[in-house]
Amino acid sequence: MTAVFSDELRARVEADFGRVVDLLGRKVALKSISAEGITAEHMKRSAEFVADELRQVGIDAKVVQSRNPDGTPGAWEVIGSKSVDPQAPTVLLYAHHDVQPVPDPSAWDTDPFVATEVGTRLYGRGSADDGGGIAIHSGAMKALGDDLKVNIKVFVEGEEEMGSPSFIPFIEDHRDEFASDVIVVADSGNWSAEIPSLTTSLRGNTCVDVNVKVLHHPVHSGQYGGPILDANTLAAMLIASMYDANGDLAVPGVAAQEPVGGLQRDLDEATVREDAGIVDSYRLAGTGSLASRLWTKPSVTVIGFDAHPVEGSFNVVSPETTFRLSLRTAPSQHPQEAQDALAAFLQ
Ligand SMILES: [Zn+2]
Repeated sequence: MTAVFSDELRARVEADFGRVVDLLGRKVALKSISAEGITAEHMKRSAEFVADELRQVGIDAKVVQSRNPDGTPGAWEVIGSKSVDPQAPTVLLYAHHDVQPVPDPSAWDTDPFVATEVGTRLYGRGSADDGGGIAIHSGAMKALGDDLKVNIKVFVEGEEEMGSPSFIPFIEDHRDEFASDVIVVADSGNWSAEIPSLTTSLRGNTCVDVNVKVLHHPVHSGQYGGPILDANTLAAMLIASMYDANGDLAVPGVAAQEPVGGLQRDLDEATVREDAGIVDSYRLAGTGSLASRLWTKPSVTVIGFDAHPVEGSFNVVSPETTFRLSLRTAPSQHPQEAQDALAAFLQ
């Protein structure tokens, strides 16, 4: 691409910026929360909105409902394409149109579903993740226009925030629509607001549900507490057993790796602490570079735990509990293999 064309392209992007911000605002207002029903009408509306926006920048886009592995109806997905030359390479553009829920709107300074500009930033649920991805693709298509030198395919998913249960069958059903030379996934962060970044590998994600049963029925803690550890305590001990003294995950068979090609620079701990809202007294877990701990080593998070609430608790040895572990796997390990290893360890 010549320098002249870069300047021209920059001018086109700047001229189109208002439209893209407006698109984002309308996307935020759709409240596309997949946790409130992947197959629900509001998710279909969200998919249709995206398909319509893509059509306006020259993509032949349509909404298709996926099917889950058990054959039941799945997510409202958007697929599309634009062909310029059968000899040219094909680029698949990925984003997702569903967003995370808003469990506590009072934690927000602005209405989560009214995109609001504060300074140079736009706030709203999904304005970045992943309305930003949709906006990027739309803006790129518009800016390149007739100068596009590659064929385009598009997949905008409707259930990413729910772990993509119908993703595999959907790809299998639409092989032609996914066939491409390069995939551009617009659903990851930049190094900083000033340093744009390419993400070249990602961790996988899988879940393990663990059931701990110690009694056939609840018993009084004054009468039986001591030799019988309650199910919650046993669950906590199980969870703790996954880590070594440094706080590194140490489960045999769950692989760790270092960034391919090594690190040119590591993440700044102060920035990570600030961005994540880490309390001052908390010491980060694990060893090695922060980048490897965040991006290439495995991690486990307890995302659900069935225990009696503190309010209304009484003196009873809890007979049984279930907790759900979310396992992030090293980029080069098949998630199923890591999941099997974690399950075997806990058993
Ligand atoms: Zn995302």
